[in-house]
Amino acid sequence: MLADRALNPQLAEARFCPRCAAPATVEFPRRLVCEACDYRQYSNPKPVACVVPREPDGRIWLLRRGFDPGAGRWTFPGGFVDLGESVEDAARREVREELATDAELDGLLGVYSRADERIVLVVFTGRLVREPRTTPEAVELRTFAPAALPWEEFAFWSTGVALRDLLAHDGAPAVRPPHPG
Ligand SMILES: [Zn+2]
Repeated sequence: MLADRALNPQLAEARFCPRCAAPATVEFPRRLVCEACDYRQYSNPKPVACVVPREPDGRIWLLRRGFDPGAGRWTFPGGFVDLGESVEDAARREVREELATDAELDGLLGVYSRADERIVLVVFTGRLVREPRTTPEAVELRTFAPAALPWEEFAFWSTGVALRDLLAHDGAPAVRPPHPG
């Protein structure tokens, strides 16, 4: 397993059992073990819900991010799933927060993860029910034709992988984006 502290900063700092307060053993990055009371605390990646909004003619809405990570670069709306909502609810909420409009989800595009990341992305395709507006999180909004996507300016590795899958599903062979990693 990768031992990068950034993968699990809470566990990197843990020293004591949260149940009985005895000194605990940290098996980084996946769990904390307490020999005194037999407590086990597991760490798991967090789900992130995303939507790739499309126009009926196939153009794809992307946003230029206002904040790090990825500030100034292009991706689609998305964010952490909160306890108390479904992944689909989270995807629609993130569109409302970032694009100031509502989304109807079409279906699942894919699930994306890597062993060195703390997140698992669940990416849907969808359509926007009204014209979106910029927000502090999305400082520029544009539609891109599939052949004109900004492959060199994506915010995250997952942006390119998901959009490559989208184009493959659509049978659009004209674009040959670089394969990540
Ligand atoms: Zn304990």
